[in-house]
Amino acid sequence: MPRYDLHSHSTYSDGLLTPDAVVRRAALRGVDVFALTDHDETAGLAEAREAARDAGITFIAGAELSVSWESHTLHILGLAIDASNEALDAGLASIRSGRDSRARLMAASLAEAGIPGAYEGARKYVTSERLMSRTHFARFLVEAGHARETKDVFKRFLTPGKPGYVKHAWATLTEAVGWIHGAGGVAVIAHPGRYKVSPTGMRRLLGEFRDAGGDGIEVLSPSHTPAQFAEYSTYARLYGLAASCGSDYHGPGEGWLDLGDLPDMPVGVTPIWSRW
Ligand code: AMP
Ligand code: MN
Ligand code: MN
Ligand code: MN
Repeated sequence: MPRYDLHSHSTYSDGLLTPDAVVRRAALRGVDVFALTDHDETAGLAEAREAARDAGITFIAGAELSVSWESHTLHILGLAIDASNEALDAGLASIRSGRDSRARLMAASLAEAGIPGAYEGARKYVTSERLMSRTHFARFLVEAGHARETKDVFKRFLTPGKPGYVKHAWATLTEAVGWIHGAGGVAVIAHPGRYKVSPTGMRRLLGEFRDAGGDGIEVLSPSHTPAQFAEYSTYARLYGLAASCGSDYHGPGEGWLDLGDLPDMPVGVTPIWSRW
């Protein structure tokens, strides 16, 4: 059984490694089929594809799209996309376009909470002019001594109701699924266990996603507990959605899982790779 890792980030969004380095690390760690899924960005895919060819692993072109749904921010993975698709490219550019002004508002909010200089501080961690994210602020907040590591930052900052959080309008669910399908890809709801929705809200979300043509749910994710692996497998079966898996790798020392460190896909689900 090949080992799949279908969710990861590079320096083209908020990852710490270049696409080439992420792919080489994935190959070394035994990943056979690998997807790079930078936030709202496909610029790293060509480099990753070449590295995958050199390393002898199968490469899946991807992106992780930011979406606003009801009062929530969701992430929708596009997998097996054609990154040269113009509508997708324009859609991603539109999602990225508000990020810099959002970052300035985030810094203003942190300044009000007694943390000055966050915009400039976060900029030092930005590795692509096209994409400034909360992760870059999180790295700055760790550096400035406000949290021990980036995952602790989000408990006290940058999330709804906390200093540094700024509400933002991303793409709609329908737009994101449409752009992904237009580019020949499959659309997967990333880490559903992370969204603060009630069980009724989750059913409404999955129903709307499926009705919009959505293809899969990320069942295996470091954001999920083993109980949630089972829970989202059940949802996948109930809604006729395929199941995906990914480490959501951002770099050494960050996050919960390394590349390829995923358990086996639960039995009884249709794996997303049967859809491409
Ligand atoms: P943005 O797209 O700018 O809103 O930033 C989202 C990114 O912040 C995610 O992709 C993660 O890398 C990071 N992030 C958000 N919430 C958390 C969390 N609870 N723990 C760790 N990282 C998080
Ligand atoms: Mn990220
Ligand atoms: Mn995500
Ligand atoms: Mn991600």
